[in-house]
Amino acid sequence: MKNIVLLGATGSIGESCLNVLRQNISNFNLFGIAFGSNISQAKRISQEFQPEHIFTGKTVNPDDLIELQSVSNVLTSEEDLKQLIQNSQVDIVISAISGFEGLLASYFAIESGKTILVANKESIVAAGDILMPLAKNKNALIIPIDSEHNAIHQCLGNKKNLKEVSKVVITASGGPFRETPFNELKNVSLQDALNHPTWSMGSKITIDSATLVNKCLELIEANYLFDIPESQIDIVVHPQSIIHSMVTYIDGSTIAQLSNPNMEVPIANALGIEARLPIQFEELNFSELNLSFEPIPVGRERIFEIAREVCNLKGNSGVIMNAANEVAVNAFLNKKILFSEIYDVIERTFAHFQCSKLSTIEDVFDYDKQARIHAEKVIKSVH
Ligand code: NAD
Ligand code: MG
Repeated sequence: MKNIVLLGATGSIGESCLNVLRQNISNFNLFGIAFGSNISQAKRISQEFQPEHIFTGKTVNPDDLIELQSVSNVLTSEEDLKQLIQNSQVDIVISAISGFEGLLASYFAIESGKTILVANKESIVAAGDILMPLAKNKNALIIPIDSEHNAIHQCLGNKKNLKEVSKVVITASGGPFRETPFNELKNVSLQDALNHPTWSMGSKITIDSATLVNKCLELIEANYLFDIPESQIDIVVHPQSIIHSMVTYIDGSTIAQLSNPNMEVPIANALGIEARLPIQFEELNFSELNLSFEPIPVGRERIFEIAREVCNLKGNSGVIMNAANEVAVNAFLNKKILFSEIYDVIERTFAHFQCSKLSTIEDVFDYDKQARIHAEKVIKSVH
């Protein structure tokens, strides 16, 4: 029986994780959960799984906590969160809080040498220079949940001998605006941007998928997680989202991982550390599959150039790009900027900062703060 802490339990990834746990209840115990403010969902999870500890990261009405307290120990401080994650009884931490807010929890897990299943790509993008060496130092096993990275993880198999790898190919659905000319992006609505063709996800990552910034973050995530230079990472649009990524080896063989687009598949793979876990899934019907591939849509080159620069510069560059994007996406979600202005905010904020090294996790928080302030200024200057 493995004790799990599920961070971001009430979100889209959280829900998929719970579905996988439900189907493998004899192997896992939900020891603790963390959530933001979705109290009704937290109550449902608490009733069903009866986790010993529940952490809430946002201010919630104390009356709402009473019901949770009857089942679980309710935690609210940063120190509580650290103790929950680093509790010696915990075997696996699932990092599925959305955005930069998930970083501290990822850091706590890695610091204590836990096995960490990472959905929160923003923590790797922003703090890869701190988290990756720390994981090596503390012997923390990092297993990706992001479908592309979990696919690469599977395609690399046990050997993980990067000398044998010629290329990694990350697939992208292309999002809802795959066929929209770049100069028409300023007219797209929030509703259209939230309407992803193949995946159902939280709002921040859905907008990232529409701008293709999600794919940029994934490029950086792959660069850090697998220690593969960006020059060996290709990105190809594959609208059906059936092939989740591929690895081409030096002998000319390409290995791909396929499934219908359902996050329970990579989650089950990541949780099946010793042996694969059985889950219910919709089989692929190969005789009806029509798989196609195309280049990244014209006009989005600059954002990918920035992401490739981040892979080469490292240091604070990922924090800056990530923070600028989070501020811009938030402004777009609140209808303060146009869709196409998300690119401008990232570009102008990124250009404003010099690249410097990150020495501590505090540096990451510091640059994040500075970049957010600058991104807000950029938004004010255009509106
Ligand atoms: P979501 O918005 O649906 O859920 C976010 C979760 O984080 C919620 O449970 C929320 O309560 C919690 N949360 C927010 N702030 C918090 C805080 N301060 N303290 C504690 N909990 C807090 O997001 P999602 O779509 O599930 O995505 C989660 C992460 O997984 C993101 O980093 C995303 O990029 C990544 N990811 C998601 C998918 C997907 O299919 N949804 C796929 C790949 C990667
Ligand atoms: Mg992904």
